[in-house]
Amino acid sequence: MMDIWEKTLEWKPSPQQQELFQSLYKLIIQGNRQLNLTRITNPEDFWEKHLWDSLRGIKFLISQKIGEESVDNQAITIIDLGTGAGSPGIPAAMVVKNCTVNLVDSTKKKINFIDSILPQLQLNNVFATTCRAEEIGRENQHRETYDIALIRAVASVSACAEYTLPLLKQGGLAIIYRGNLTDEEITNTENAVQQLGGVIESIEQFNTPISNSDRHCLYLRKVGSTPAKFPRSVGVPAQRPL
Ligand code: SAH
Repeated sequence: MMDIWEKTLEWKPSPQQQELFQSLYKLIIQGNRQLNLTRITNPEDFWEKHLWDSLRGIKFLISQKIGEESVDNQAITIIDLGTGAGSPGIPAAMVVKNCTVNLVDSTKKKINFIDSILPQLQLNNVFATTCRAEEIGRENQHRETYDIALIRAVASVSACAEYTLPLLKQGGLAIIYRGNLTDEEITNTENAVQQLGGVIESIEQFNTPISNSDRHCLYLRKVGSTPAKFPRSVGVPAQRPL
């Protein structure tokens, strides 16, 4: 897969990172035997959907691009909401230099699984929290404290905006991973983002390198503060999107 990494991300994993990817794959397959963590289990799908797709969304954060001096990021704080079996947060923690990653999911068994694999992966920059996005967004020690919020396959785009933007510092970036994206969804998101103190900075469309599936990433920049009433109570952002 090295040439695909190089061609698509202008980056390639170090031998140590390749080992980490391999270990992650084994641990997820083992975990999946008892816990229903993910439907993505064959090696190619795992590579494409857990690793490549997760990293494609944060391409701009991956240092040591080919031909570039290694750039030390200032400590970057990342939160991954609805992380499931750890995507995109675990691959991010493996490749973004000098970051800390908080993996959040409302399902305790998923967070227990992540807690059980972190020591084996020796990822000491990662934490896992069982919590609803609507709740963590109201906690003082988390609200408006993150540089980057990642969210993939959790809810509608406007609900994802309501989950992520309250957690970001001003200037922070929310990255919403999508498959298809309609014009109507974009219009709804513009409206939601404006109420939440953000703007749509860019939308990237791309195709995955093996199955050629359609993908989008929405990049939302936090430009103001989020009014205290957001995120609304548990369930409301999904049931009554802004
Ligand atoms: N991001 C992962 C998992 C997607 S499945 C991936 O792309 O592979 C969606 C996950 O979001 C599930 O694990 C579910 O428990 C979690 N989830 C759904 N709504 C949530 C909420 N409001 N707050 C926190 N987690 C949520």
